[in-house]
Amino acid sequence: MKAVVVKGKREGYEVRDVDDPKPAPGEVTIKVNRAALCYRDLLQLQGFYPRMKYPVILGHEVVGEIVEVGEGVVGFSPGDRVTSLLYAPDGTCNYCRKGEEAYCHSRQGYSEELDGFFAELAKVKVTSLVKVPKGVSDEGAVIVPCVTGMIYRGLRKAKLERGETVLVTGASGGVGIHALQVAKALGARVIAVTTSESKATLLKKYADTVIVGKQFSEEAKKEDVNVVIDTVGTPTFDESLKSLWMGGRIVQIGNVDPSQSYTLKLGYVILKDISVIGHASATRRDLEETLKITSEGKITPVIAGTVSLEEIDKGYEMLRDKNKVGKVLLKP
Ligand SMILES: [Zn+2]
Ligand SMILES: [Zn+2]
Repeated sequence: MKAVVVKGKREGYEVRDVDDPKPAPGEVTIKVNRAALCYRDLLQLQGFYPRMKYPVILGHEVVGEIVEVGEGVVGFSPGDRVTSLLYAPDGTCNYCRKGEEAYCHSRQGYSEELDGFFAELAKVKVTSLVKVPKGVSDEGAVIVPCVTGMIYRGLRKAKLERGETVLVTGASGGVGIHALQVAKALGARVIAVTTSESKATLLKKYADTVIVGKQFSEEAKKEDVNVVIDTVGTPTFDESLKSLWMGGRIVQIGNVDPSQSYTLKLGYVILKDISVIGHASATRRDLEETLKITSEGKITPVIAGTVSLEEIDKGYEMLRDKNKVGKVLLKP
């Protein structure tokens, strides 16, 4: 089969033929219906993920159909449509047993220690699998593990209450445009922040208020912002913090430049009673609940474009293209 293979640390990727995967005990093989491109891929290609083994198949977001089940797999059969956590938990430790498998000591990441999903077929461990309900399209499902489900967990960690106000930075990006929708589905008032005047009109479809510009906190503070979902990183973090009303929570997802740091004035977070919540992934519960919300029509996937395996370069061009809105998908 064809796959996008990362050859070595900072050595880039190539599309090449590899052996078809066979499921080991506790694994299934899926036919990949859709995978999704992500900024994390770019960070992985830049060598920021120390646990990556090489060569490794790139890609950590997937929806597909089970074609073969390995020994000892119960609850899943060929023909089931499934998505996967971004990682494989062991399913047996204390964290796994209480449904907090994102903290599993023995977790292994897809596109890190395990092969990822930019391929015609992929192996997935049964501990990562979540069934996709009928009412959810492949496009709606593939964005759950790393986008909508991840945001759902972030808002769960921030203890978002109905009627609170959520501000989203980078709102026209692949994560941002869906963060607006998840927050809205959970009953929040939503403020979108973008730097692009041209995208403001589109964002009005998803947000109650749209703010254009890099200095957004003055405008944001006209109402009580309770939660910020910062999908950008150091370029927006300071304004994000300043936007929050007392008791506010910032869910930090974006990290566009991992080499940059930020000097936090402790007095500011102490006196304003602010929580800074670092956030990255989701659990099976988050995926299931987000799939349910998606099946109720409360989240519409916004797709910038879909490319084939051979067109992967074009896909990353789309991902970097500031004029595109939404997720870039891969259809093998
Ligand atoms: Zn991702
Ligand atoms: Zn575990």
